[in-house]
Amino acid sequence: MLVDVKNVMETYVEMNLEHVLDEIPNVCRCEQCRADIKALVLNRLRPMYVSTSKGEALSMMQAFDTGKQVEFLCCARSAAALVTSNPHH
Ligand SMILES: [Zn+2]
Repeated sequence: MLVDVKNVMETYVEMNLEHVLDEIPNVCRCEQCRADIKALVLNRLRPMYVSTSKGEALSMMQAFDTGKQVEFLCCARSAAALVTSNPHH
């Protein structure tokens, strides 16, 4: 079995960023801006590397506490605002 390390925070951001952007008016959804927002969020949040299979990583993410979720929401909103006011597209 192939064992690898994975940043579950990145998976978490990928899975949840779209929902956050849905709630923000005027945010650009082009590929460049979405990548910029994702990079900003991932730079701010502490990475969470796990050496496990993808299934286990997903179940770990379900254990993300409310504090982490709030932190993610906060980072995602401020990153979206930053990119919207200074887009690279
Ligand atoms: Zn854009």
